Amino acid sequence: MGATSTETNMADPNATALARYRNDFLKEVEERVEEGPWVKMCMQCGVCAGSCPFGPHWEHSPQKIFMMIRAGKRDEVLRSDSMWMCTSCYNCVVRCPRQLPITQIMHGLATYAHRLGLAPKLQPTRDFSLQFWDNCTRTGRVNELKLTMGVYFKDGLAAGIRKGWEMRRVALGLLKSGRLNPFELFGGHRCKDQKGVAAMLKKAREIEEQRKRAPG
Ligand code: SF4
Ligand code: SF4
Repeated sequence: MGATSTETNMADPNATALARYRNDFLKEVEERVEEGPWVKMCMQCGVCAGSCPFGPHWEHSPQKIFMMIRAGKRDEVLRSDSMWMCTSCYNCVVRCPRQLPITQIMHGLATYAHRLGLAPKLQPTRDFSLQFWDNCTRTGRVNELKLTMGVYFKDGLAAGIRKGWEMRRVALGLLKSGRLNPFELFGGHRCKDQKGVAAMLKKAREIEEQRKRAPG
């Protein structure tokens, strides 16, 4: 029975992390999230919440997220879509009186939530990130036309055609100025050193796997 439980935990990074950090979400963030040790330095002044251009549209501002981490609200934080809304404008970072690397923490939390399988599945930024990664790692270069098509058609054929029609003037402008090449759909540019890119990605995956296994 013990072996079965261990196997289950190994297959589920969230269960593994929960078992290790039960009732201590701050410690979990400190150990497993990029720049996590900074969270305890937040003095809840609210400057970041007031400076963020997305402030009124977020459920949880950075200030609130940091307070929730310290209050142990693990599920609410990791399932929140607020971290995915951060545009990396760095407004909060330059104004924080405690000089917290807020942007990095927000992205670190989003990445960690994704790694544990807790990130909101239909969050558009997450969806775009996954498509972008898949697109650029195929050849080492982003194929902008395929990426755009992927985003437009992710909700089905009709939605894709509708979106394409809405954007037709932009597309025509890009075509006329030579910024859009329809033939990119049939292959497109590739990075010259394909093997080098593949080796780099392999190494990055190894590091990622090590991180996933870290709490075991
Ligand atoms: S500005 Fe800095 S110290 Fe103030 S609430 Fe935001 S993170 Fe905390
Ligand atoms: S970097 Fe992110 S969290 Fe900070 S102000 Fe800009 S959008 Fe808001």
